Amino acid sequence: MISITYTTSNPEEMKTIAKDILLKCSGPGIFTFSGNLGAGKTTLIREMCHHLGYKGDVTSPTFSLVNEYSTGSEVIYHMDLYRLKNMEEAYDIGIEEYLFSGEYCFIEWPEIIEPILNDGHWQVKIEVNSEGVRKIDVSKIPRTTEIS
Ligand code: ADP
Ligand code: MG
Repeated sequence: MISITYTTSNPEEMKTIAKDILLKCSGPGIFTFSGNLGAGKTTLIREMCHHLGYKGDVTSPTFSLVNEYSTGSEVIYHMDLYRLKNMEEAYDIGIEEYLFSGEYCFIEWPEIIEPILNDGHWQVKIEVNSEGVRKIDVSKIPRTTEIS
C-alpha cells in the first residue's frame, strides 16, 4: 500500500502537489477526491489537468456531472457526483464507460459509486483544520476481486 501526505495552506502550492501526485501515481488512472465543500478538490484537479497539458478552465461539473478535457494527446474526465442519488443514476450517466475507458478519471464526491470502484484506484482525501491548513492524503486502493 502506497500512501503520501502533503500539508498546505496556500493554493499556489497545489501546483507542486499536483505534479508530485502525477509523478508518483503513474499512468492513466482513476483518482477519487474526498473532502468537504471548499476543501480544495477542484483546485487540485485543476492543477493536475494543467500539468497534464490541458490549457482551459477547470470548474466543478456540479450540474453537467462530467466535464471532458482534451490535452491534445489524451482525454481527462472530471466528475462531480455530489448530485447523484443512487447507483442507478450513476449507470445512467455511463459511469462504467468512463471508469473502463483507460483515460484519467478525476472524481469528486465518489462515495455513491464506491461499490463499483473495485479495479484499483488512487484515493485523495483532503482535510481542512480550523486554521485552514489542508492535509492531503493520497493512497492506493488495490484492486479487489468481485464476489460473484
Ligand atoms: P472543493 O472543490 O473541494 O469544493 P475548491 O477547490 O473549489 O474546493 O476550493 C475551495 C477553496 O480552497 C478556494 O477558495 C481555494 O482558494 C482554497 N484552497 C485551495 N487549495 C488551497 C490550499 N492548498 N491551501 C489553502 N487554501 C486552498
Ligand atoms: Mg469542487
